Amino acid sequence: MNYQLSLRDVTKKFGEVTAVDSVSLDVKKGEFLTLLGPSGSGKTTTLNMIAGFEVPTSGTILLKDRDITTVAPNNRGIGMVFQNYALFPHMTVFDNIAFPLKMRKVAREEITKKVQYVLEMVQLPGFERRYPYQLSGGQQQRIALARALVFEPEILLMDEPLGALDKKLRDHMKLEIKHLQQSLEITVIYVTHDQEEALTMSDRIAIMNYGRIMQLDTPVGLYESPANLFVADFIGESNFLEGKVIDTDSEGVCIETNQGIKVWAEFGTRISVGDEASVAIRPEKVSIFADEDTVPSEMVNSYRARVDEVIYVGDANVYKVRLNKGVTLKVKAQNVRPGKGFNKGEGVIVAWQLRQCRALR
Ligand code: ATP
Repeated sequence: MNYQLSLRDVTKKFGEVTAVDSVSLDVKKGEFLTLLGPSGSGKTTTLNMIAGFEVPTSGTILLKDRDITTVAPNNRGIGMVFQNYALFPHMTVFDNIAFPLKMRKVAREEITKKVQYVLEMVQLPGFERRYPYQLSGGQQQRIALARALVFEPEILLMDEPLGALDKKLRDHMKLEIKHLQQSLEITVIYVTHDQEEALTMSDRIAIMNYGRIMQLDTPVGLYESPANLFVADFIGESNFLEGKVIDTDSEGVCIETNQGIKVWAEFGTRISVGDEASVAIRPEKVSIFADEDTVPSEMVNSYRARVDEVIYVGDANVYKVRLNKGVTLKVKAQNVRPGKGFNKGEGVIVAWQLRQCRALR
């Protein structure tokens, strides 16, 4: 496979702090790859090493087959957009966008053509003579994007580019960036701590924690098949039932919780009998039935429970239910027939299939 960018065992230490710990990563041409993780997990440091603003303590960065680990930022052919726009305040829009071209000694007519072209691309034609202070936040961000795209970089790096914008504008720019990326077939490496942003924009997401990649997968892969407890907890919402593995077969694993409830789950990680593990179940994967209903036979996990709390969230009801042995679960049920939900205090059955929950560590 021909990768556009590869990180091989890249580590960055700042004194005692290991900001990035042995990260290896391959990015395909035209891919939208996001680094997602909590604050301090090493996302920006990783991006800065790709850009050339930081040099790795160890490891190698390859652009196609070229080792760029210590190459200066302006010799990498990589564009970059930051959260705080970083437009030059004393320069017009034209001069801001032309800047990278002037640095590269591009001819004047060529510059004018290219600036016009990218301004149309970001839907701001005719804005050449304005100054940054005469633009809204969203417009400034689009100019920053135009400036990063004008020298046709092979890779575009974006660090929380929408962080300073209000929600509505962020939602709009999210789609605009994605469309632009697809039509230009440009490779984007994007940093955010906003999971919704990551899930809607990315082809693949690297979930980072403590400087390491916890899982690298498609949005669906991360949500449906988290590889560990951190990812199951970080992406979306999960119930966790802690216990010990008491049995396994070809389909999955049986975990007995500390309260004595047995749950059959699919393997999320390699575990064997005797290991401590947790079962992760998404609230929307749990079905809720009336006390007298017959539960479908494929739902091998089936328990009597009582409704402790009902939360109406419009399209769904969220129930907090308590199983006989004191275990509580959150259940999200689509609001198919308004007024036909369950009430607080009611006895119910909650049930789910083996493949709807995962045994993880
Ligand atoms: P955020 O979402 O808050 O921006 P991040 O995931 O981008 O966080 P980094 O900025 O890469 O995280 O930081 C990773 C770790 O490295 C943190 O513990 C941070 O304090 C530390 N760090 C980053 N830059 C430096 C530096 N120049 N000197 C010392 N420590 C640093």
